[in-house]
Amino acid sequence: MNTQAIFDIESQHTSGLYSKRPVAIVRGLGARLWDSDGREYIDCVGGQGAANLGHCNPAVAAAIAQQAQTLISCPEMFYNDRRAELEAKLSSLTGMKRVFLCNSGAEANEAAIKFARLSTGRTSMVATMRGFHGRTMGALSATWEKKYRQPFEPLLTGVTHVPYNDLAALEAAVTDQTAAVLLEVVQGEGGVNPGAPEYLLGAQELCRARGALLIIDEVQTGFGRTGRMFAHQHYGIQPDLLNLAKSIAGGLPMGATLIGERVGDLPAQTHGTTFGGNPLACAASLAAIGYLEEHHLPEHAAELGAWFKAALAEIQSPLVREVRGLGLMVGMELKQKVTPYLQALMAEGVMALPAGLTVMRFLPPLVIEKDDLVKVVETVKKVLA
Ligand SMILES: *Cc1c(COP(=O)(O)O)cnc(C)c1O
Repeated sequence: MNTQAIFDIESQHTSGLYSKRPVAIVRGLGARLWDSDGREYIDCVGGQGAANLGHCNPAVAAAIAQQAQTLISCPEMFYNDRRAELEAKLSSLTGMKRVFLCNSGAEANEAAIKFARLSTGRTSMVATMRGFHGRTMGALSATWEKKYRQPFEPLLTGVTHVPYNDLAALEAAVTDQTAAVLLEVVQGEGGVNPGAPEYLLGAQELCRARGALLIIDEVQTGFGRTGRMFAHQHYGIQPDLLNLAKSIAGGLPMGATLIGERVGDLPAQTHGTTFGGNPLACAASLAAIGYLEEHHLPEHAAELGAWFKAALAEIQSPLVREVRGLGLMVGMELKQKVTPYLQALMAEGVMALPAGLTVMRFLPPLVIEKDDLVKVVETVKKVLA
């Protein structure tokens, strides 16, 4: 199919919910993408965080191919070998004993919200300004962005939003009615805002003191992105509920809510999903985690990310307000809207994404080579000049 035909058909039939770039991506390998005209791009969108393992990662592709010929569907009414292995693996990586498997980040958050209500018998929740947790009604209630929320109000009652990294505001908001505090370790969609150590440790302490659960949303920061397998491990905190998705299965749709000791036992039959824990996604996830570990990708992300952030910060431009991030999750905040600069980057062969209106966000696959990031820095410099 030629490029114009792809544009025409999608324009006619797509939901219309997304603002699309005028490019059709048809192939990927590692940290490279190709469009329908054969143009090559360095990918710093990374599937919006789903491509930490690189496009068409050979270990993930082989595991999917093999499992696809063994068993694809298997609801949780049955036990399954691949699911058992993955549950044990996620548990050993986090110290959290139980795992609920689902199919997306929003679903992982949705489950955590329900589990917090079941566990505490309370209904209120505290989330943060600029936080993002997904688009289903419960997850949306915790999400901050007004344009996502407003058309769907009324949402869940009892959700308070407090400024991020402000422990006093959190202390004032958490009451004996609070079921949970829901936080990202580094806010992603909200502008790449890393949490301060004393804030996250303080939040944990506060939750324990007031009988609330600490839900950590690592849908974007998980699986090596920030330089550790999970971002909360930089801070030494122990979440009560940990939400994962995006890169969990090497790019295949999957989510997980990990359940810690403070949650206690969940009553049977109170939640579930048909596709959750299907052997295909579990096999992909096991291969993805195995590859991350064998190739030391979290360490690679820490080293390369520190270099990349420093190199971007060295660019002398009156347009730049701040460069910040953790590992290979890096944001460059401009003093103006980033859309024209993202378009200019794409014209120069570099894909990056926004985080809000004024932040350029870079989420390259963790397999990216330094040479490619050198080119990205040069290109950013060029488009800002
Ligand atoms: C992307 C994201 C979500 C939503 O995940 P979906 O799979 O798109 O539903 C939730 N939380 C965070 C932190 C995210 O970055």
